[in-house]
Amino acid sequence: MLIVQKYGGTSVGNVERIRDVARKVAKTRDEGHDVVVVVSAMSGETDRLLSLAHEVSEAPAEREVDVLLSSGERVTIALLSIALNSMGYPAKAFTGRQVGIVTDGVHTRARIERVGGERVREALKQGIIPVIAGFQGISGESDVTTLGRGGSDLSAVAIAAALKADLCDIYTDVEGVFTADPNIVSEARKLDKVSYEEMLELASLGAKVLQNRSVEYAAKHGVRLRVLSTFKEGSGTLLTEEDADMEKLAVSGVTCDRNQAKITIIGVPDRPGIAAKIFGPVADANIVVDMIIQNVSQESLTDISFTVPRPDVKKTIEMMRSVVKDIGAKELEVKEDIAKVSVVGVGMRSHSGVAVRMFSVLSKEGINIMMISTSEIKISCVIDAKYAELAVRALHRAFELEGA
Ligand code: ADP
Ligand code: ASP
Ligand code: MG
Repeated sequence: MLIVQKYGGTSVGNVERIRDVARKVAKTRDEGHDVVVVVSAMSGETDRLLSLAHEVSEAPAEREVDVLLSSGERVTIALLSIALNSMGYPAKAFTGRQVGIVTDGVHTRARIERVGGERVREALKQGIIPVIAGFQGISGESDVTTLGRGGSDLSAVAIAAALKADLCDIYTDVEGVFTADPNIVSEARKLDKVSYEEMLELASLGAKVLQNRSVEYAAKHGVRLRVLSTFKEGSGTLLTEEDADMEKLAVSGVTCDRNQAKITIIGVPDRPGIAAKIFGPVADANIVVDMIIQNVSQESLTDISFTVPRPDVKKTIEMMRSVVKDIGAKELEVKEDIAKVSVVGVGMRSHSGVAVRMFSVLSKEGINIMMISTSEIKISCVIDAKYAELAVRALHRAFELEGA
């Protein structure tokens, strides 16, 4: 078999762990498989580099941030290949550029356009283990780009797709995908399988165990994807097509996303074209607006609230200042300490009353709901950040996820 193995930050967090990873890779080789390894930077390293950039400048240029961040993964590919070579397993470290991960030019959140993979194939043919830097690519202008936080998962999936690998294993610090973050809910239960569609919602709504774009890419390219622990033996969680079993429960997971902020424009004149004026510039800046609510207008004035990723708040506020002037709105308000809690499940298609149950659980805990959004298989509520963990635990209990 050809297996792509991806090891996350904690799994390569220090030299001892890098040696352990080398032993796991070697074992897979000994079992007769071809292995391609993708690694993240050591845990905490990407955050450390980012904060250095912010120490130097309040608004560091994104092209330069990518040059900086991509250095984290260079360290781990080199150390892991050194470890493998010293154990007698020929290995070579490759950057994103060297393996032809070509992206668009949107720095810090680039999208993969194509994966060449020639040098990987060449190495495999020679019996060499390719060790590839995750999270990075190269734009059409030959600039280094990064794929958004958690982007090494996407690198692994894209490489697996390009090589038509039999399996893409994402090794991390938990045993698989759980009904909620096991670090928040101790009774959370590991799922043996999860559908691509549910996983995409879970990942997009805060379950960072897989980056959301990696799930989308895997579904689109038919990559067999598994999540499992680096530290504990086990079968992990396999991503599969949806089946009848999955519909039995209304809810299969609870998530929480604390990486959003809410922006409210107060006193917006209620006339056609206003929404386009507000959200046009935000979209042009590649900022993803998540929830939007507009209040009923009173005397032709309304309030519009929306959420954006927290790292984009400053930029959005700057844009909104001129929009507010332009459209003759009254004021701008920002609330950063919010959290979005969500329940997800394909079973929602056939079970009714899930939303009402969610609202009553939150109300019993005395938690105020600021925004609501729903889709066919998820319901999300924006609440005060300080109640996030309480809400996740209460919902996990109310939907009886621990015992199922
Ligand atoms: P890595 O560095 O290996 O990529 P991440 O920190 O990105 O690891 O992702 C693993 C973490 O995801 C876990 O430690 C866990 O806290 C978190 N997590 C959030 N939601 C879930 C979930 N539903 N199931 C499993 N882990 C989750
Ligand atoms: N090192 C990058 C990050 O911390 C990419 C990854 O770990 O997947 O976001
Ligand atoms: Mg990750």
